[in-house]
Amino acid sequence: MTSQRTRDRLVRQLEEAGIRDHRVLEVIGSTPRHLFVDEAMSSRAYENTALPIGYGQTISQPYVVARMTEALLEGGPRSRVLEVGTGSGYQAAVLAPLVERVYSVERILGLQRRAREVLSALRIRNVSLKHSDGNWGWPEQGPFDGIVLTAAPREVPEALLAQLAVGGVLVAPVGADGEVQTLMRITRRADAYEREYLEAVSFVPMLPGTSR
Ligand code: SAH
Repeated sequence: MTSQRTRDRLVRQLEEAGIRDHRVLEVIGSTPRHLFVDEAMSSRAYENTALPIGYGQTISQPYVVARMTEALLEGGPRSRVLEVGTGSGYQAAVLAPLVERVYSVERILGLQRRAREVLSALRIRNVSLKHSDGNWGWPEQGPFDGIVLTAAPREVPEALLAQLAVGGVLVAPVGADGEVQTLMRITRRADAYEREYLEAVSFVPMLPGTSR
């Protein structure tokens, strides 16, 4: 159920769904997603669906992880990438081999701790985690040439736009909780932020503050 064959089938599904970046497909095929979900769920880990990870949160659907990663990498290599919403740590693990360093913030301490354990068991060493409210980004580590939000704000917080380097891209689901959200890509140009609408998505809401 967690075999390479099962993973390969997921990769084929993502290809059929339109994921073209081979680096992304390769990383999805080699990342053990079953380690990022509860053991009771591990038999479903290579289905193309979101799954519960506790605390009312979910690990994103593999297609969405692939699509966001692809959208982030398009247009140039990304060295410093900020993720808002570590959750299980899966998206961070997918980004890790594709960029120089991942900085990921999570507002729920329990999730952040679990993600840290899994990432360290997998010997992924270029991911830095912090327990904090991602509405403020991680200013000490910015600017970033990539930012990815895995929870949906109603509007992209100003603080995050400010931490984007010129030439950098921010990929985020934007919209109200319970409504259809839009996956957006915002590119920072020298004199403006350029917005693109990629597709409709459904994410948990981005919430303010932190919790245990
Ligand atoms: N990237 C994760 C997806 C987890 S779901 C994965 O691969 O598993 C989204 C996560 O965003 C949740 O864990 C939620 O707690 C977190 N989140 C929501 N609002 C946040 C905020 N303001 N700051 C940081 N994390 C936030």
